[in-house]
Amino acid sequence: MYEKFKISESIEKLSLEVEEELTDIFKNINKQCEINSMNVLNAFQEYNVSEMHFGSTTGYGYGDIGRDTIENIFARVLKAEDALVRNQFISGTHALTVTLFAMLRPGDTLLSISGKPYDTLDEVIGLVENKSSLKAHNVNYEQIDLIDSNFNIDAIKQRVSKNDIKLITIQRSRGYALRKSLQVEDIGKAIETIREVNNTAIIMVDNCYGEFVQDKEPLEVGADLIVGSLIKNLGGGIAPNGAYVAGKKDLIELVAERLTAPGLGKEVGPTLGINKNILQGLFMAPSVVASSLKTAIFASRMLEKLGYKPEPLYNEKRADIVQTIEFGDKEKLIKFCQGIQMGSPVDSNSIPEPWDMPGYTDQVIMAAGAFTAGSSIELSCDAPIRPPYVAFLQGGLTYEYGKLGVLRAIQNIL
Ligand SMILES: *Cc1c(COP(=O)(O)O)cnc(C)c1O
Repeated sequence: MYEKFKISESIEKLSLEVEEELTDIFKNINKQCEINSMNVLNAFQEYNVSEMHFGSTTGYGYGDIGRDTIENIFARVLKAEDALVRNQFISGTHALTVTLFAMLRPGDTLLSISGKPYDTLDEVIGLVENKSSLKAHNVNYEQIDLIDSNFNIDAIKQRVSKNDIKLITIQRSRGYALRKSLQVEDIGKAIETIREVNNTAIIMVDNCYGEFVQDKEPLEVGADLIVGSLIKNLGGGIAPNGAYVAGKKDLIELVAERLTAPGLGKEVGPTLGINKNILQGLFMAPSVVASSLKTAIFASRMLEKLGYKPEPLYNEKRADIVQTIEFGDKEKLIKFCQGIQMGSPVDSNSIPEPWDMPGYTDQVIMAAGAFTAGSSIELSCDAPIRPPYVAFLQGGLTYEYGKLGVLRAIQNIL
């Protein structure tokens, strides 16, 4: 069978050795998956999910009990007072944007303490000129960079003690930066420090790619709001689109009134038949996140053995599902991404090429042979074409498919 996928005997042999080596690590992932599964199942039973919740609304979407139940379940699973889980959120970027605009008023200051936020927020904040940015609405932006992937605690403490910051944002995952992702415990320590001197700033965590990876979520260590995409971890590969915001009840109300309209808030929002998909996606999410982690760890060890530079290493503690691999070579990087596409279930015959994507300074290549367009909880790989030529690999609905995709990509660079 491996031959059919153009995977050579030597790579097959190496993969067996690597899997042997990963046995104990995979066992720990299974354990975390079981804990997350219990958490999810408990919430489903607590809110008595039944067939009526799979129903649909159109138009204004008043009285959608499925939608209300989904939001209660997300809140319970994420340890939040309330949650907004909506298909009207186009993406994670949109949910982050709505949340920022809901919290920040003219004259307010937004402070990032994890360095420059994700690329798609450049125009939202106004780092890149845009007439609709926060900056254009007279919202100030400040940033404290990480030092060696750690919070600059002294600088943070000093800056927030002035008490003039409206919202502090923390990005858990690395985005396209070459830094480590932030552990929930470290986010907790930073929040503890902030709260020693500042009780008013709203603390938001961009939780994209982080959900269900560790034994705690950021709300459990003091964050006020978390935001994430449903075509990443919590959608379980089944949610067709959407995003969530979870946290303090009064803040969720503000976000809802910004997403819909003041006075309407959470009461409206037609679900158009996707309630069952959202619920089933959350139900699958613990296992899908576990598969993604195993795929990432397998890729990390394989590529390390072949002489490339993966981060994290296979045995390092993880905070998200993203695996970077430094190729140090443009052609190898492109070949790897193309190989991921070749190993995908959808559009496996398409060859992705680097192109000038809007919002990025360098050309970007994106491989995603996914059932849901742009889904990156499904096996996917993207990379800006710039030295040191690093691929960002993530997802894998099952470990077996993830492994096959990674092996196909490895064979393609050899
Ligand atoms: C993916 C991602 C986003 C944006 O989510 P989209 O759904 O792609 O808009 C924001 N922040 C981080 C860290 C991400 O990984």
